[in-house]
Amino acid sequence: MSETGSRPQSARWFERARRAMPGGVNSPVRAFGAVGGVPPFIRRGRGPRIEDEDGNTYIDYVLSWGPLILGHAPEVVTAALAEAAAEGTSFGAPTRWEALLAEELCDAVPGLEMVRLVNSGTEAAMSALRLARAYTGRSRIVKFAGCYHGHADSLLVEAGSGVATLGIPGTPGVTAGAAADTISLPYNDIDAVEQAFAAYGDTIAAVIVEPVAGNMGCVPPVPGFLEALRRLTAQHGALLIFDEVITGFRLHRGGAQAVCGIVPDLTCLGKVIGGGLPLAAYGGRREIMAMVAPEGPVYQAGTLSGNPLAVRAGLAVVQALRDEGIFRRLDETAAALTAGIGEALSAAGVPHCIQRSGSMFTVFFTEGPVRSLDDARRSDAGRFARFFHALLQRGVYIPPSPYECWFVSAAHGPAEVEATLAAVRDAAAGGL
Ligand SMILES: *Cc1c(COP(=O)(O)O)cnc(C)c1O
Repeated sequence: MSETGSRPQSARWFERARRAMPGGVNSPVRAFGAVGGVPPFIRRGRGPRIEDEDGNTYIDYVLSWGPLILGHAPEVVTAALAEAAAEGTSFGAPTRWEALLAEELCDAVPGLEMVRLVNSGTEAAMSALRLARAYTGRSRIVKFAGCYHGHADSLLVEAGSGVATLGIPGTPGVTAGAAADTISLPYNDIDAVEQAFAAYGDTIAAVIVEPVAGNMGCVPPVPGFLEALRRLTAQHGALLIFDEVITGFRLHRGGAQAVCGIVPDLTCLGKVIGGGLPLAAYGGRREIMAMVAPEGPVYQAGTLSGNPLAVRAGLAVVQALRDEGIFRRLDETAAALTAGIGEALSAAGVPHCIQRSGSMFTVFFTEGPVRSLDDARRSDAGRFARFFHALLQRGVYIPPSPYECWFVSAAHGPAEVEATLAAVRDAAAGGL
């Protein structure tokens, strides 16, 4: 293993990649724009760790941006994949595995009576919106600044994730028409939602929300916020869509909705349910889902939808998550990390605020609390970049943006917590 932090092979590959792909990447935040420097090119992962092309190893808190709740290459997934691959990788015809996964999802998530499997969270959110508009016969949607629902045109207005990281206010290529039907409001602002419904109530098809926001950093809902969304949408005949692409099967087997006890009309899932392969889903009440083709007129299709490899990897993971003990252990690991990081930063006199929900959390370099995108933007970007590189150099890989969550997997144990906290203490003592 070479000295951690030295990455000549990654630098070489980055140069080649940049000639052949915009920014050298296939998803923007991977390019390290917010923190600078050369991203490690990853060649393998195992459990809580990844290894780059130079042989450096890192404790991984990105976990493919959330999906890998059992860590890298867990035996249940690699075994399911090997078996599936040997039997053929795609048929474009129904398989029993799809029925099994759909049943498992409906059994776990309170709001799901029927689901449709798709390939990405983007597709799930985009399709859920189309369905909501068809069901209500209305066109407007309400979303919240800093929430990210994939890159469909109408959802890129004031979006979180990479859109927030890059400071892109809107995105060229999105027509005024696509954006005009989107009402973007501050997260956690109940008054703003009431005003929007007072003004536009009979034209709003749906409110889409991350029930715990994860794309402006971890921002839990304030008490009463989700309740207000449920009440106002029901009153005005609009649908409530929970985008649980991050929170589904991460906070609880039943998602954030099982924790908060509020049942949405439609739910989007992704990330964890694909077991590290491209798979997502949208679903909800039977009467609404019955409008999806071929049962109903709302068209939505996919050549690789319900792909056998993805479905069997996902099924292996969601079945493993029937074990409630996993969520308790994830919570304990994340709690130990946030407590230790907070102590180290306080000891070094660094202003910060750590927000956590289960096994997802964010270290904001601002006095808290962070309740909205405006609050999150007060985080000190320069200090974050220094913190990020100090940890990377010490073998700890966190998301390369101040607006993302660290994720913990079941493969992260006390040894990883100790090593991570030692790195954080060392980084903080060295000055941030
Ligand atoms: C990641 C994410 C998406 C988009 O999913 P992709 O698979 O990247 O298209 C949508 N919504 C939320 C809440 C997400 O975190």
